[in-house]
Amino acid sequence: MAKILAVTNQKGGVGKTTTAVNLSASLAILGQRILMIDLDPQGNATTGCGVAKRAALPTVYQILIGRSNLNEARLHTDFGFDILPANRELAGAEIDLIEMTGREYRLRDALAPVLVDYDFILMDCPPALNMLTVNGLVAADAVMIPMQCEYYALEGLTDLVATLKKIRANLNPKLEIEGLLRTLYDPRSTLTQQVSSELVEHFGSKVYQAIIPRNVRLAEAPSYGKPVTAFDKQSKGALAYMILAQEVLNRRDAALRAHAEQGVKA
Ligand code: ATP
Ligand code: MG
Repeated sequence: MAKILAVTNQKGGVGKTTTAVNLSASLAILGQRILMIDLDPQGNATTGCGVAKRAALPTVYQILIGRSNLNEARLHTDFGFDILPANRELAGAEIDLIEMTGREYRLRDALAPVLVDYDFILMDCPPALNMLTVNGLVAADAVMIPMQCEYYALEGLTDLVATLKKIRANLNPKLEIEGLLRTLYDPRSTLTQQVSSELVEHFGSKVYQAIIPRNVRLAEAPSYGKPVTAFDKQSKGALAYMILAQEVLNRRDAALRAHAEQGVKA
């Protein structure tokens, strides 16, 4: 059964899409069956995997409004994982969903039949706490929060944690924080180091040991429609996402082991 992770942070430009695309590719290299869902009308995760936005029909939009299903809409990328693409049409979903019953649960319900096909489903959320993000958070088992270690980052995190609490209380009781990921990391900056240690102080082992450095190859890869592992697999960015992928797998395996042991004791 797939573990469903929402890559989310309402703050823009913190590396959500870069993480969704490159972690998907890296997990696929490690032999995992992956579906990446582009939940952002910007469609950056879609083009970042070499899928043309206009040609990509149907998309997650048709899924949300019930005009298509996952079998019709998912595509194979050239990089060993599947994608449910998005394009600008998705911006309209916000309004279309207002009228619909169970609007927060539409993605969760649509995913149910394909959970057995994947080890992980990663969702690239938009930089907003809108109905698209809510659909992502309701469908998810856990959230992965990429963040840039800068002055306002911790403040933004407080808002996000409050939102997660609300979602847990009202819509999805099992939603957890899977981990916080330090992105666009510049080790030479004192502020970065300071915010980074505050983060570890507050969130302890929830902070991934893997750190994604600021690396120009990560910024270049999307314009070639490739994850960095296919663009320059020796780059620091590619290596960092491979290390993160291994850490994500280790966390999942540790959780499965703990679950099994609990089962034995019971
Ligand atoms: P949005 O909130 O708009 O969806 P986002 O959180 O998805 O943004 P990205 O699109 O992944 O953020 O990254 C923002 C910009 O920074 C992009 O141009 C991306 O290529 C670049 N970028 C992301 N991570 C890195 C990195 N580690 N090193 C260098 N550039 C990066
Ligand atoms: Mg994005």
